[in-house]
Amino acid sequence: MTQLAEGFDGLRAGLRGAVLAPGDEGYDNARRLWNAEHVKEPAVIVQVRSAGDVQAALRYAVAEGLEIAVRGGAHHIAGLSSVDGGLMIDLSRLNQVTVDPEARRARVGGGALLRDLDAATQEHGLAVPAGIVSHTGVGGLTLGGGMGLLTRLHGLSIDNLESVQVVTADGSILRAAEDENTDLFWAIRGGGGNFGVVTEFEFRLHQVSPMVNYGIVFWGQEQGAQMLRAARELIPALPREVNVVIACLNAPPAPFVPPEHHFKLGYALLIVGFGSAEQHAEAMAQVRGLLPPLFEFATPMPYVAVQQLQDEPNAWGTYHYEKGTYLDDLSDEAIDTITEYLPRKTSPLSVAMFYHLDHGYLETADDATAFSGQRTERYMMFVIATTPVLEALDAERVWVRSFWDALQPHAANIGSYVNGMADADEVRLRASYGDKYDRLAQIKRRYDPDNVFHRNLNIKPAAAGS
Ligand code: FAD
Repeated sequence: MTQLAEGFDGLRAGLRGAVLAPGDEGYDNARRLWNAEHVKEPAVIVQVRSAGDVQAALRYAVAEGLEIAVRGGAHHIAGLSSVDGGLMIDLSRLNQVTVDPEARRARVGGGALLRDLDAATQEHGLAVPAGIVSHTGVGGLTLGGGMGLLTRLHGLSIDNLESVQVVTADGSILRAAEDENTDLFWAIRGGGGNFGVVTEFEFRLHQVSPMVNYGIVFWGQEQGAQMLRAARELIPALPREVNVVIACLNAPPAPFVPPEHHFKLGYALLIVGFGSAEQHAEAMAQVRGLLPPLFEFATPMPYVAVQQLQDEPNAWGTYHYEKGTYLDDLSDEAIDTITEYLPRKTSPLSVAMFYHLDHGYLETADDATAFSGQRTERYMMFVIATTPVLEALDAERVWVRSFWDALQPHAANIGSYVNGMADADEVRLRASYGDKYDRLAQIKRRYDPDNVFHRNLNIKPAAAGS
């Protein structure tokens, strides 16, 4: 009789963490994924508590021929962090964050969420660039690159990565850094979960005041083209400490939104000032001066609160699809496409968002990491469908795809930031990684020749001798 048939007793015996099978208390909660479209039923979930647990779970899965999925924050839009009938390595209990304020370093468990990271680092007035929804996993976000409100100041999450502890496909527990397993360290910074299970990230931290200045300025749908044309001149000229995200969305029914504008479709600039109050006020005045807005709101706010502002609109339990693309610039033609396609969405929850990538993003050399995007000034655009019910998702998926198709003549190429892809074939992944793809495939062959880790945007191991 195999261990599987014995009810996982052999697996349980070697672990600190829990083992959950269908019918066990906690199983249904543990198998949930952020995108409610994806409902998976793993044969077993291992809630690991150490690198040793990951090692044991991996060896068990390989011996039993079970497909492996690795769950960080469970946010992947295609539900890649779980698997029907396989073994899910659930990292959510591996969420400790330890900060050394003198050295300005944080050690972060591979299953920590952004909110765990922000809370622990901000206790010391420190932070590291990460994404804008605090229930996203540090793991998946960082392994793909990691862009957010601090990227203009301090680059991507991977640009601030000092080292990782990783369990590779053969069960080895390795440290990878600039001075050890350097090929693995290069690949992990952008190559996703292809190379092993990262059980700890070590980040360099930056001083970020616990209070920052937040502002939102909102224009109506008919003002979109004029506002985007004006914003493309202003955004690059703003001081480095002022980060701006462009959001095309329906106004929320929030207290700061005049009731007559609730749910109105339009264009917003989300402005976060990491410098002085005067600098932020000046930036807000310049933004306001672009074109008279429908409404605006500005207030000092704790950085951790700013990092949680998008949590509710992106709550667990809704249905999603996404495609992303790089735009070298917001050309007139791209703006015309955006303003033509935005009103075609059918769900008020769906959005298009742009990060403008400059300053800190440009300070890491293109070939220093495996990041899926060149380090030239650009916009990263995410087109994200969100619906409250599954039945509405298909229409929104069609909208995302048609919007993305229409943007392609203005895009750098069909590639994208891999964390903005719901699905990708090898052609799109090659376009995203460019020259780096072949090197990634070679490193994959060295660390995971049997492609044990394939529940990701998969880089296939290079063929022997290639
Ligand atoms: P999971 O689904 O748990 O994991 C994603 C992938 O990474 C899976 O293949 C998984 O196996 C693998 N993985 C996760 N952790 C590990 C680990 N420790 N070791 C090995 N493999 C691992 N990206 C940005 O850059 N900036 C943003 O502002 C941003 N905002 C987002 C907002 C929302 C609402 C969503 C849904 C996504 C956002 N993203 C953003 C994209 C996000 O970075 C990716 O979806 C990322 O994969 C999520 O990571 P996760 O750990 O939560 O997801």
